[in-house]
Amino acid sequence: MDIRIGNGYDVHALADGLPMRLGGVQIPSATGFVAHSDGDVAIHALCDALLGCLSLGDIGHLFPDTSDEWKGVDSKLLLARVVALVHEHGYEVGNVDITIALQKPKLAPHIETMRSTLAPILGVGADRVSVKATTTEKLGFVGRCEGCEVWASALIKQD
Ligand code: MG
Repeated sequence: MDIRIGNGYDVHALADGLPMRLGGVQIPSATGFVAHSDGDVAIHALCDALLGCLSLGDIGHLFPDTSDEWKGVDSKLLLARVVALVHEHGYEVGNVDITIALQKPKLAPHIETMRSTLAPILGVGADRVSVKATTTEKLGFVGRCEGCEVWASALIKQD
């Protein structure tokens, strides 16, 4: 069996009055993400982790933010495209692990929904989709509520 791993990282700035979507889930929040797409920074990091498994570059390369095609796009569609690429290369997703750093709002009430939203797109059970959240104890740009930072790891396998 061949297995490959990848990691991804993304940051989006926060601004008042914009929608906040994370892990494919709409989060009630006074602030949201400044972005060309829907700004789902968790899915963007996850896409980069999956692309990293196959050395296929990054989502900025695949879905340029200069293209109107991706303006305001639901990032779940980008993830589905990336998973299709994984399948085209003869691999399937093994498991993924996502860490979201956000000062507020608290994400704990939304973690299970994110897992169950992402799992069918990835073609795995929710037990193979880990989503973790942390604050940065009010330190740095995350702590000042200026942005959100996400790290993701992915493993893909070929039988
Ligand atoms: Mg992004």
